[in-house]
Amino acid sequence: MDTQPTGTQKVIPILPQPADAAAASPAQGADDEVMVSLYAAHQKIYPRSVSGLFARWRWGMVFLTQLVFYGLPWLEWGQRQAVLFDLGARRFYVFGLVLYPQDFIYLTGILVISALSLFLFTAVAGRLWCGYACPQTVYTEIFLWIERKMEGDRSARMRRDAAPLSLDKFWRKGGKHLLWLALALWTGFTFVGYFTPIKVLGLEVVQADMGSWEVFWTFFYSLATYGNAGFMREQVCKHMCPYARFQSAMFDKDTLIVTYDTERGEPRGQRSRKADPKALNLGACVDCSLCVQVCPTGIDIRKGLQYECIGCGACADVCDTVMDRVGYPRGLIKYSTENAMTRHWTPAQTLRHVLRPRTLVYASILGTVVLAMLLSLSMRTPFKVDVVRDRGVMARIVAGGNLENVYRLQVMNATEATQNYKITVSGLKGINVSSDSMVAVESTQSRWVAVRVQLPYDAAPAGSHPIQFEITSMDSPGKLTEKSVFVVPR
Ligand code: SF4
Ligand code: SF4
Repeated sequence: MDTQPTGTQKVIPILPQPADAAAASPAQGADDEVMVSLYAAHQKIYPRSVSGLFARWRWGMVFLTQLVFYGLPWLEWGQRQAVLFDLGARRFYVFGLVLYPQDFIYLTGILVISALSLFLFTAVAGRLWCGYACPQTVYTEIFLWIERKMEGDRSARMRRDAAPLSLDKFWRKGGKHLLWLALALWTGFTFVGYFTPIKVLGLEVVQADMGSWEVFWTFFYSLATYGNAGFMREQVCKHMCPYARFQSAMFDKDTLIVTYDTERGEPRGQRSRKADPKALNLGACVDCSLCVQVCPTGIDIRKGLQYECIGCGACADVCDTVMDRVGYPRGLIKYSTENAMTRHWTPAQTLRHVLRPRTLVYASILGTVVLAMLLSLSMRTPFKVDVVRDRGVMARIVAGGNLENVYRLQVMNATEATQNYKITVSGLKGINVSSDSMVAVESTQSRWVAVRVQLPYDAAPAGSHPIQFEITSMDSPGKLTEKSVFVVPR
């Protein structure tokens, strides 16, 4: 931890230093009291713009992820929104799929697939997610782009921040914040549009008739976007994101990470373009500091791998342009592995080591889970049934000398057409459904039905007997069996 005291701070002891205290006399101790500030003032980072291969990949991911995020809620599927999580009705629509809370297993499957993908990508190429697809990176990139358009690149922004308030500074900064706020509000609106049909939500906004939860979540998400991408930026990655802390557990010596080639770069030093670095006893690093200036977390990759590094490759891009300018080979900063650096592997050798037991295990588990989930989805019965024995109605003897139990069945239609279901019962000799055994349920709706089940009086001894309800769809293939019990009173 950086514990450098600043010149203006009052000097008081904070932490006892036993070894030093023993060496110093009491008088000396009083004189040498030093306040160790455990708080390091935040230094604002002004990332310089960068272009190159990895920047293009990152912008590609920005476009792709945002096209999906902002575009999906506007897609229609039949008469409804293609992707909608209707929490009020407890229905989740994902294109042709209609999911109920009982389909929670698929959400678990998606979480397991996400976690395994993260493990696999991290083992292969470090913090790929952080550098290219994490919402924090993506929105910071967009907000930075707006900032550059309004205030210029790094040096212009630094100069403007240091200058006193002027009309130029006011309108540029004001305009930037207005654009940030507009984007953040649109992002919040889009987010809520996944839970309330977005066209309805749009109408509610125009008519100033939004529900209180819609207002809360729109502003909460907008504020989070505005604060995280506009102000917090690298602080989120450094101090708030837990992934940065445990990522090193997923790295090994064959993980691709952004690496500075110390052997080639050192000793670093400035020189004229025509100078021979060997004659000057210099390495390839011209010490231009551009790799630090473009870094969104403000670190110097030449000091080695640091937990703050999000693996965005901006330093590699800018260093390649410097190498081009001075006429040295590219790749002083590059994606490489620890083994490749120490054993001087070629890129082909390095890539061959990507296929190692660890990544193969992750990939095969991931493939199995994805396959299992796809299979399960394709074989899924398009309706669900819950059976509850009606405890309000006791087991009783009815006309004809039969015993009767009453059940409540919830039939959930997960298709987008009205369906008819036939209910039958088995498990005891002579048991049958005495109420209407056909039930119609409208598209994507669920319906509770009371089902009376009768058994001849002497068909079973007193006690609880397991039975099965069989529910068959008459309009689409599918049959479900649900267990229950039939109670014979003494
Ligand atoms: S950009 Fe490259 S040449 Fe410039 S300081 Fe960084 S490592 Fe050295
Ligand atoms: S050190 Fe390089 S790869 Fe790491 S965050 Fe900074 S610019 Fe990105």
